[in-house]
Amino acid sequence: MRILIVGGGIAGLAIANLYKNKPNVAVHLIEKSDGWKTSSTSLYVTSNGMKVLEHMGLGDQVRSAGYIVNERVVYNTKGKTILKINLEDLWHRSNPCVCIKRKDLHTVLANDIGNAEVNFNLTTESIVEDGNHVIVTFSDGKQAVYDLVIGADGVKSTTRKELLGDVPMRLIANQVCRFIIPKPASISAWTLFLNNKGHFLIIPVNDKEAGCYVFNKNNDKVAKENYLDPFKNCCEPVNEIVQNWKPEDAYWSSLEELDPIPQYGKGLVAFIGDAAHAMPPYMAQGASLGLEDAWVMYHLLEEDANLKTLVERFTAHRKERVDWVRKCNQNREKLSNLPYWVSSIGLKLVGKKNWTAEYKPLVKIPFEK
Ligand SMILES: Cc1cc2nc3c(=O)[nH]c(=O)nc-3n(C[C@H](O)[C@H](O)[C@H](O)COP(=O)(O)OP(=O)(O)OC[C@H]3O[C@@H](n4cnc5c(N)ncnc54)[C@H](O)[C@@H]3O)c2cc1C
Repeated sequence: MRILIVGGGIAGLAIANLYKNKPNVAVHLIEKSDGWKTSSTSLYVTSNGMKVLEHMGLGDQVRSAGYIVNERVVYNTKGKTILKINLEDLWHRSNPCVCIKRKDLHTVLANDIGNAEVNFNLTTESIVEDGNHVIVTFSDGKQAVYDLVIGADGVKSTTRKELLGDVPMRLIANQVCRFIIPKPASISAWTLFLNNKGHFLIIPVNDKEAGCYVFNKNNDKVAKENYLDPFKNCCEPVNEIVQNWKPEDAYWSSLEELDPIPQYGKGLVAFIGDAAHAMPPYMAQGASLGLEDAWVMYHLLEEDANLKTLVERFTAHRKERVDWVRKCNQNREKLSNLPYWVSSIGLKLVGKKNWTAEYKPLVKIPFEK
C-alpha cells in the first residue's frame, strides 16, 4: 500500500510514526514549509491525547520534554481565586495532561518515522481520485499514484478544498497572541487570569519556560502593541510579563471554526486533524483529536484493509466525538461572551461540574489497549 500524507503537523506526523515499522506500507509525507513547521508556542495535550502517545510508545519522551500539569486554576486579575480543579479528578486518574513546546512535540513525533520518504517545500497541484487510485501532481511538476491520500494539512487544507470545494469557516477572532517566557516561580499549573476585557493563560512547558496565550475581547480593533494593555497593573506575575513583553516576540494567529462536514474525506482521500474538524482551542482538543484520528485510522486499516470503505468507517468512528467537542467549545464561547461578572460567577458555581461533564466522554480513547 502506498500512502501519501499531505502535511507534517501533529496529525500527519502521528500517522507516519504509526506506520514506521509496517512492512508492505510505503509512506510518503510532503510538507509545504522548509522544515517541520514549529512555531514557538505551547501546546497543552490533554489526557486523551497523552493516552494515544503512551500507546504509541512516546509517553515518556513527551513527559520528559514537557511539563506534567496537575491542576487548573482560574483567578481574576486581582489575584482572587475563582476556580481550582484537580486534573487527576477531572480525568478520572487517567494519563496526566502535559504542556509542551510545539517544537518539542514535533521533534518527538518526527524523530521516529522509520523509512517514510519526506519532502519539504512541496505541496500538491492536483489530486485526482478515480475510485481505484489517487493520481497526484505535485508543485514541482512530478506525478505519482497512491492507494490512499491523507490530508493532514491543517485548518486551511488544500486537500479538503480540492475534494470538497470551499467549506464555510466561522471567524471567531482575527488575532490572538501566544509567546514563551521564562517560567514564573509562582506558576506550576494551567493558570488563567480573567477580567472584563479578556483572558491571559499561563502554563509551564518545561521546568524553565512557560507558554502564554492572550485573548483581548477588543481583538481586531486593537493594535498589536496594545494587545496586552487590559492586563497592565494586574496581579503578578501577569503585570511583570506585560511590562517585559514585545509584540514582535509573539506568534499571532486567528481563531476559526470549520463548518461540520458530512464525511471526513471522499473516495480514497481522507482528512484528519484540523483539515477534518478545525475548532477554536477552548477545550484544548485540537492536538488530541488529531492524535486520536491518526490512531483510529491506523486501527481501522488493521481491522479491514479495504480502502474503499475507509472514509465511511473513519467518519462513523469519529463524528460523534468530534461533534461533542464542537458543542462543548460553543458552550464555552457563549459563556466567555457573557458579561465578565456573569461568566465568573458561572465558573465559580458550576465550572467544576461542567468541565468534568465535558471531558468525561473523552477519558476513554477509541481502540484503548
Ligand atoms: C491560538 C491557538 C492555540 C491552540 N492551543 C492548543 C492547545 O493548547 N492544545 C491543543 O490540543 N490544540 C491547540 N490548538 C489547536 C492545534 O494547534 C491544532 O488543532 C493542531 O495543530 C492541528 O494539527 P494538524 O496536524 O491537524 O494541523 P497543523 O498542526 O496545522 O499542521 C498542518 C501541517 O500541514 C502543512 N501544510 C498545510 N498545507 C499544506 C499543503 N498544501 N501541502 C503540504 N503541507 C501543507 C503545514 O505547514 C503544517 O505543517 C490551538 C490552536 C490555536 C489557533
